[in-house]
Amino acid sequence: MANKGSNILLLSHHNVLIKKVEQILGTINARIFAPEDMTSALSIFQDNDIHLAIIDTESVFHSPPQQTDNSENTLSHLCYLFTDDKGTSTIPFILIGNDFNKPELEYMSEVSYVPLPIVPSMLTAEVHNLCRLQQMRKEFQQLADETTLMKLELSKRNKQLMLSSQIARHINSILNLDELLHEIVQLIQTQFRYYFVSIWLISSESGEIELKAGSLHGGRSHLQPGFKLIPGKDKSIITYVCQHKKRYLAQNVAEDPYYLPTDALPDTKAELCLPLNAIDNLMGVIDIESDRVDVFHPDDVEILMTLADQTAIAIRNASLYHQVLQASEDLEEKINARTNELKETNRQLELLEQNKTDFIQILSHELRTPLTLVNGYAELLLTHEQAEKDSFLRQPILGVMTGAQRLQELIDSMVDMLKIDSRSLQLMPQTLSIENILTPLLGNLSEVFNTRHLNLVMDNITDLPEIEGDLDLLGKVFEHLINNAIKYTPDGGRIDIYGRYLHQNFDDILEEFVEVAIHDTGIGISAEQLDIIFTKFYTTADVSLHSSGKTKFKGGGPGLGLSIARGIVEAHQGRIWAESPGYDEATCPGSTFYILLPLRQER
Ligand code: ADP
Repeated sequence: MANKGSNILLLSHHNVLIKKVEQILGTINARIFAPEDMTSALSIFQDNDIHLAIIDTESVFHSPPQQTDNSENTLSHLCYLFTDDKGTSTIPFILIGNDFNKPELEYMSEVSYVPLPIVPSMLTAEVHNLCRLQQMRKEFQQLADETTLMKLELSKRNKQLMLSSQIARHINSILNLDELLHEIVQLIQTQFRYYFVSIWLISSESGEIELKAGSLHGGRSHLQPGFKLIPGKDKSIITYVCQHKKRYLAQNVAEDPYYLPTDALPDTKAELCLPLNAIDNLMGVIDIESDRVDVFHPDDVEILMTLADQTAIAIRNASLYHQVLQASEDLEEKINARTNELKETNRQLELLEQNKTDFIQILSHELRTPLTLVNGYAELLLTHEQAEKDSFLRQPILGVMTGAQRLQELIDSMVDMLKIDSRSLQLMPQTLSIENILTPLLGNLSEVFNTRHLNLVMDNITDLPEIEGDLDLLGKVFEHLINNAIKYTPDGGRIDIYGRYLHQNFDDILEEFVEVAIHDTGIGISAEQLDIIFTKFYTTADVSLHSSGKTKFKGGGPGLGLSIARGIVEAHQGRIWAESPGYDEATCPGSTFYILLPLRQER
């Protein structure tokens, strides 16, 4: 049985034969068309899906197809039409007759022959086979057509994917934001041949959506960067996407409720707007417009979505880079400003330091002269016979002399400091012992020790080896330290002075030292002040007490003693430092000052 719905074209001028064939094929449910002339045969052939043609060779072929200029011969010409330009039949044929030796048959390749008189079973079998064959051929052709289409579609997608990956690679290498946006719209517009492609970014301050870059097919758009849309006010596809944070596709903008027509883009027919999301943060949109309706295939949309995501990341990177650049420029500016401020402060400090030095120098010179006069006259007065007799008169004269002496010491300290600062301290080294230094000093202070009820203990001083040093200068060091020990120790306290000999081998060279420690049972020094007390003019004493005695408990001082002592010790290639458990006027933890001096001075 032929396939259901098989259409058969029966070409014959013999009504008897037509009837006969219809009768036979009626049993197999085929639809038979038996046109009377060429015109109706042609229209039947064009309008219906004909599977097979049955040709009565006896009545149809009267002349060769070249001479088909009358209607008699048109049916034979039709046979000619059933073949394609390669001479292959487009449908199969069954030829009925007894003489198959006709020139027209040369054009027919798929032919079966049924002799007269027709044997019904033979005809039905041939029809069945050929219809089936034709059906299969059509299905095969359809498959082949579909495959070709798919191949075409696939190569188009492939090209677009390549383009999108090219674009993505390219845009990732651009860090300048404006340049990047411009490149992206231009690449998408030209590579995908869209009408207008634009990027809009949302302002974080105002929330307005601003056109940043646009690329129009074949020219410049009147829509210029800087053009703004306001969400909630302007109804457009772009504001819709920014508000709903999801893509929007209008395949035909004429029918779209959100489309905002603009004179600047008169040819827009379809619009696809994609959100630019980077890490859940909507930065703006990429808007693609086409001058054809229904142009955005779902696959295109997918590719463009991927491209939009990559664009968002590239924009984010570029803006981060921009921010970092901006921040580093700001930082550099701040650093420069700070450096200039510091330079200025430094310059002012140097000026101040210089002023101070100048001041001390002038002060010491200017004070020394009148002081010599005061001293000289005071001594003169003291030796006057009236003063010798009158103890009431002697008292103020002695006071003037003590004051002048204190003043003299102060000026000397300032001059020493000046020399240390300007590195012009000259040492006059001689061989001496620590005992040589201490004996006269302690002799002068014995009265103070008595009045302040201070106990002085010396240990291992006389056994110390001799050293090379400047007697006067080292005398000043010990004088400052012992005076401080007295000054910061309450009455009834104790002062220990002890020494030891130290040596070490350094690169086979023997290095020898004496270390002298002056320990007191005074108020102590806090850990954070142990170093700072050696700086110039540093004093914890009450400034208002500066005129008080130099050995009075917590008596004031100019804050020069330790810094002069350090200057002198270091000029002797030695070291000076302080140790103390802490500062406490109630418990008096005490302090120890150490002086380390080399036995010999390297020249
Ligand atoms: P001045 O004694 O004139 O203040 P110094 O340079 O001699 O200046 O000492 C600086 C500071 O070090 C003193 O103000 C004091 O706070 C601290 N200091 C020095 N010697 C002692 C000590 N033996 N015990 C406690 N504090 C001391």
